[in-house]
Amino acid sequence: MKIVFVGPPGAGKGTQAARLCEHLNIPHLSTGDMLRAAVNQGTEIGAIIGPLMRDGQLVSDKLITGVIRERIQQEECKDGFLLDGYPRTLPQATAFDEILNEFSISLDRVVEIRVPDDELMRRLIGRAAKSENPRADDTEEAIPHRIQVYKSETEPLVDFYEKKNLLLPIDGMGTMDEVFDRIVKGLQ
Ligand code: AMP
Repeated sequence: MKIVFVGPPGAGKGTQAARLCEHLNIPHLSTGDMLRAAVNQGTEIGAIIGPLMRDGQLVSDKLITGVIRERIQQEECKDGFLLDGYPRTLPQATAFDEILNEFSISLDRVVEIRVPDDELMRRLIGRAAKSENPRADDTEEAIPHRIQVYKSETEPLVDFYEKKNLLLPIDGMGTMDEVFDRIVKGLQ
């Protein structure tokens, strides 16, 4: 199964994506994790993208599309994958379509996790306060900005994939198990 996950920061996207990958036995391609790894390894690219990520800005479409283009050709992605955090802008979605065409890959579903804004803020601030090692972008300054970037840059993808008949909207409220059950049922 070839799946894309879309959802605002704090929607539980990463957690649900990891769980679904285990359930379906497919690789979890999280662009946020890949980029954080590049920053932590102190690579040249990491030094450029670190400050952008800390402020809740997106890295360039070209850079991240290049990373995904390489990754998707690898053997581990042959029978399926879950993309978590890509595409995240309309230009990325268009570029991704071209990659899919190039390699004759067809997407099965785009899962959109929906959670109201006030709940997102509550969850993200709670996560930052509880964590001993909070993410660099889980700050009071970056959190509202990340939600705003989601609305302006990423939300248009919902329409884009709805028109392609790929969208599976999921209510992200409730327990982790409840949300997971909705996703699994929706994918059947
Ligand atoms: P995430 O872990 O998905 O919330 O991503 C964390 C940060 O990584 C984002 O705020 C962006 O700075 C960067 N990032 C992750 N995926 C992308 C993407 N597809 N396009 C641009 N920036 C991204």
